[in-house]
Amino acid sequence: ADAITVGELAKRMGVKANDLIRELMSMGNMVTINHPLDFETAEILAAEFNYEVENVGFDEEAILNVEADGSQTEDKLEDLVERPPVVTIMGHVDHGKTSLLDAIRETNVIAGEAGGITQHIGAYDVELDGRKIAFLDTPGHEAFTAMRARGAKVTDIVVLVVAADDGVMPQTKEAINHAKAAGVPIVVAVNKIDKPGANPDKVKQELTEFELVPEEWGGDTIFVEVSAKEKINIDGLLEMILLQAEVLELKANPNKRASGAVVEARLDRGRGPVATVLVQAGTLRVGDPIVSGIHWGRVRTMINDRGEQLKEAAPSTPVEITGLSGVPDAGDTFHAVKDEKSAKEVAQHRAQKLREAELAKTSKISLEQLYARI
Ligand code: GDP
Ligand code: MG
Repeated sequence: ADAITVGELAKRMGVKANDLIRELMSMGNMVTINHPLDFETAEILAAEFNYEVENVGFDEEAILNVEADGSQTEDKLEDLVERPPVVTIMGHVDHGKTSLLDAIRETNVIAGEAGGITQHIGAYDVELDGRKIAFLDTPGHEAFTAMRARGAKVTDIVVLVVAADDGVMPQTKEAINHAKAAGVPIVVAVNKIDKPGANPDKVKQELTEFELVPEEWGGDTIFVEVSAKEKINIDGLLEMILLQAEVLELKANPNKRASGAVVEARLDRGRGPVATVLVQAGTLRVGDPIVSGIHWGRVRTMINDRGEQLKEAAPSTPVEITGLSGVPDAGDTFHAVKDEKSAKEVAQHRAQKLREAELAKTSKISLEQLYARI
C-alpha cells in the first residue's frame, strides 16, 4: 500500500492539514500537503493529536518473501538441491536418548577439523562418508511439541529410542503419537543391546501394535540395533537415517535469503542475545539483516557446535548466532531480509500487534471482572 499523505492523514483525523504541517515543521520536517509520510512519522504525528495509527498497509509477507500464510514461497524445481535430514531423538526416560546423542557426536565429528571445543548449542551436525545429518539435541517431547505448536516444522525424521531390556513404555507411546501427528517418519533404534537382558525381538513385537513393523516382517519401518554405551552400530544407525532421508527426497533452495527456525536462545552476559537457529532454506551469512519474532539485527557472529566461526550456513545447518536485539523463543521463525530497516520494521510491526492483542485481552478481562462484580 502507498504511504499516507499529510492531507489524507489530516482528513482521517479530522484536523486541519495546516495544523499537521505546522506540527511537522516543529519536528524539523518542511513538507507540503501532498507529501507522503512514512509510518513512524505518521505514528508520532497522530500521537500528538491523541490518535493511534494502524499500519494496515504493512506487507510483512512481501518483506519476508513468503506466502500469505507464512509458508515458503514456492521455489523453481531447478533451484532445489538435496539437503541433509534434520533428526530429533525421542523415547522413554532412561532408554538412552542423551547417551545416543553423545555417542553419535563423539564417533562422527565432521572430518577435517581437529581439537575444536565442543559447544552445546542445542543442535549439531555429523557426517558419514561425506553425507551430513543434523541432530537437534534437545531430546524430550516438550521441545518437539512446543516447536510444533509454534508452527515450526523442523524435524524430518524421528529416531525412536527403545531400550531392549525394557520395551515399549508410556513415553515411547507418547513419542510415537507426536511423530505420527506431525507426519514425521520414525526410525527405531533398539538400544542397550549390550545388556544381558536385552530382547530386541520383544521390542519389535510390541511396536507392531503401533504399525511400526520391521522390513523383515513385511513392514516398512527401519529398525537398528545399537548400544549407545558400547558404541555398537552407531554408523549403522546413521546409514539407516540417510536411507530414510533418501526416500523423503529432502530439498531446499540455497540461493536465496535464509529462513528457518530458532532451536533455542538465551541471553549471554558477554555476547548479548545468542540464538541457535536451523537454516531451513536459503543461505545465512555473517552480516545478514535478520528478524525473528519481535527481535531484529544483523548476524554478527556465527559458529557451529565445534566452536568454528562460519561465514555462511546452507540449508539444514544448525548454527549459533549473535546480533539480535533480544532473545527470540524456541520455535520462532527467522528470516534474513533485504536490509536492516526492513528487519526493524517487521519486528516493530509485530511488537505493535502483540501490544494491541495484549491490550485487547486486558480490556476484556476488566470487562469480565466488571460483570463479575455486578
Ligand atoms: P535418557 O533419559 O533417554 O536421555 O537416557 P540416558 O542416555 O541418560 O541413559 C540412561 C541410563 O542408561 C544411563 O545410565 C546410561 O549410561 C544407560 N545407557 C544408555 N545407553 C546404554 C546402552 O546402550 N547400554 C547400557 N548398558 N546402558 C546404557
Ligand atoms: Mg536424557
